[in-house]
Amino acid sequence: MKILTTVQEVREKVKEWQGAGLRVGLVPTMGYLHEGHASLINKACSQNDRVIVSDFVNPIQFGPGEDLDAYPRDIEHDRKIAQDAGADCIFHPNADEMYGPNFSSFVDMTGLTEELCGKRRPVHFRGVCTVVSKLFNIVTPDMAYFGEKDAQQLAVIRHMVQDLNFAVKIIGCPIIREADGLAKSSRNAYLTLEERRAATILHAALSGAEDAMRGGECQVAVITGMIRNTIESQPLARVDYIEIVDSKSVQSVSDITADVLIAIAVYIGKIRLIDNFTWKVQAGGI
Ligand code: AMP
Repeated sequence: MKILTTVQEVREKVKEWQGAGLRVGLVPTMGYLHEGHASLINKACSQNDRVIVSDFVNPIQFGPGEDLDAYPRDIEHDRKIAQDAGADCIFHPNADEMYGPNFSSFVDMTGLTEELCGKRRPVHFRGVCTVVSKLFNIVTPDMAYFGEKDAQQLAVIRHMVQDLNFAVKIIGCPIIREADGLAKSSRNAYLTLEERRAATILHAALSGAEDAMRGGECQVAVITGMIRNTIESQPLARVDYIEIVDSKSVQSVSDITADVLIAIAVYIGKIRLIDNFTWKVQAGGI
């Protein structure tokens, strides 16, 4: 499977496909692919004639002191996973190809991007919106695939597509987990054996909350307290945030009367992990 490194090569390939009337799907990633990414590629292949996976550690979505340099990279490993999942090619540009020396245009969304992860990572969503806009302009996909693992990112991208009239359909895909419940993530590779065991606390805390909600608990303060207690029972874990927000507006709620997103960010040692689930009031659960 071909790895394309320039914008020009991608444009030519997509022109050929779309000229032949083929439907093109895009799966944006930062590489170090795992089964979570593969599930997005599988879904894209089931709904499109051709699928491009972008594989780019986007420097502008990392703040000072974050893990840009340490972020795991392995393009040959990614080629195998993407190919096995059915992708047609990978777009793997370097930072200069994406951001020339005079780069100075950014996509800066207000509101939604200032909540949850945006409160702690102030430049993050500006970087995400900018790179995803560029990818949409380069690839001009019919459909693009994003994981519910990054629930706020998915909401932000949907909102951006609506605001800026991108002609792409956004498809959200469910979280893929390890057998013990830990959400698959490229950052799990940073964890020591002991931290890896401790990291199961995120899913345990969310499962406990879900059980309580299924049992009728609907006070946000009570549910948040339960999640915090569970996480704090693990000595290697430190809460960054626990938030229960309206699943559409991503604004805080105090009682659960409509669909909500229960989202957490937790440090396991120095590694920050996120997880979430959506509670649908009508269905009485997820
Ligand atoms: P990343 O490479 O971490 O930026 O992720 C690229 C895409 O894969 C994003 O849309 C993520 O939400 C999605 N993704 C990452 N991990 C998972 C997972 N465990 N399950 C489903 N989707 C995921």
